[in-house]
Amino acid sequence: MARATRLPGAAPRALLLPLLLLLLMLSLPPLLARALRPPDPHHRHLMRRGPQPWHEAPPSSLAPPPALQEAPQPSRGPRPPRCGVPDPPDGLSARNRQKRFVLSGGRWEKTDLTYRILRFPWQLLREQVRQTMAEALQVWSEVTPLTFTEVYEGDADIMIDFTRYSHGDDLPFDGPGGILAHAFFPKTQREGDVHFDYDETWTIGDNQGTDLLQVAAHEFGHMLGLQHTTAAKALMSPFYTFHYPPTLSPDDRSGIQHLYGQPRPAPTSRPPALGPQAGVDTNEIALPEPEVPPDACEVSFDAVSTIRGELFFFKAGFVWRLRGGQLQPGYPALASRHWQGLPSPVDAAFEDAQGHIWFFQGAQYWMYDGEKPILGPAPLSELGLLESPIHAALVWGPEKNKIYFFRDGDYWRFHPSTRRVDNPVPRRATDWRGIPSEIDAAFQDADGYAYFLRGRLYWKFDPVKVKALEGFPRLVGPDFFSCKEPANTFH
Ligand SMILES: [Zn+2]
Ligand SMILES: [Zn+2]
Repeated sequence: MARATRLPGAAPRALLLPLLLLLLMLSLPPLLARALRPPDPHHRHLMRRGPQPWHEAPPSSLAPPPALQEAPQPSRGPRPPRCGVPDPPDGLSARNRQKRFVLSGGRWEKTDLTYRILRFPWQLLREQVRQTMAEALQVWSEVTPLTFTEVYEGDADIMIDFTRYSHGDDLPFDGPGGILAHAFFPKTQREGDVHFDYDETWTIGDNQGTDLLQVAAHEFGHMLGLQHTTAAKALMSPFYTFHYPPTLSPDDRSGIQHLYGQPRPAPTSRPPALGPQAGVDTNEIALPEPEVPPDACEVSFDAVSTIRGELFFFKAGFVWRLRGGQLQPGYPALASRHWQGLPSPVDAAFEDAQGHIWFFQGAQYWMYDGEKPILGPAPLSELGLLESPIHAALVWGPEKNKIYFFRDGDYWRFHPSTRRVDNPVPRRATDWRGIPSEIDAAFQDADGYAYFLRGRLYWKFDPVKVKALEGFPRLVGPDFFSCKEPANTFH
């Protein structure tokens, strides 16, 4: 997707201006927020989540600050061209400083969608508009299993219209310039509705007017469940800057693939892992993972692994990344951002001596080379493991060549080179002295100590004395995530 190039010389201004304007626009959304279909309970929830300093903004903040009036104006008029969909309420909150895609909270439960164009702009031939809409939808269908089929009468999932001023949905258009279009999120009353302001000068592929292809591709992103993002150069940025043809930034792509997964494989190739739904040959898709990560201070982690010398904690589709004991910026993050198609949750994970990363869920496993999926889902029975799920995987020994799988007080020795356990009959985990029989996760640190997690506790295991160290268990939260130690701690 390296087709798009920014116009020469346009980049610095195009980047600076939207930033300034974004700050301005964030002071007006109280009006927009109220206008956006208040009866929808889900949307109300979104509007109230997180700190929303601009909700307190007095009406006077609607006047542009003097500095902004001197800012370079877009060539097309005094109002910055932008999308009419309000920015997510936590646009400036801590979470959004990660500059990543933002989900509306809904998505389509089917992947084969129909669309219909109700009215057309006067400047363009109908056939051009049809072609443009098809291309704009293709931007999204290229990277997902989604398909779009145009219908010419009756109901369609997606209803595209060119309308003017008030048009029946509480989000009136404003004549030329300003708001260009808006679309409604899935799982809301008007899901599938995509409206374009008829009064814009719609063009295709030039900057003499408003490029329909780019605006349509952006609105279709909303229609599919993406909110505005602050990520750089994203199609889902709220501000319109001309570049043709539109392409997805990595952030846009992560967002849409988070909702719908990767494209269906060609019939001849091996299916890539699509998580729990892989191989299910229907139009139905599973519910999205929760967007808000669990609290690292409260959770019992699913899996922990040292990967490329860093420590990764997994829980419910999210990953925490620690380097040198420090949680890295941008984390917790969705684990699928590193490992596309990774199932959620994972039961266990480890990195073998070749640098392959193995993940386990239920009776299946997946293998990645770095972030590239190379195998999976594949049955655990291939590894000689007849019982599932496994609860933890430990890399052990100075050569990192001993792998142990743990489950219900049992453990197996596994050989990555032959990809088999040495005996399908497990040994008793009591060999690991001082470690509880049931564990959730295990890993080895750089000094060769093993760690075993159970609930919110962990044990540190001495490789020389071959037993748990004195003073354990301790709490994972305070030791790894600087959580406050509870007052009634037991040690
Ligand atoms: Zn938008
Ligand atoms: Zn509308």
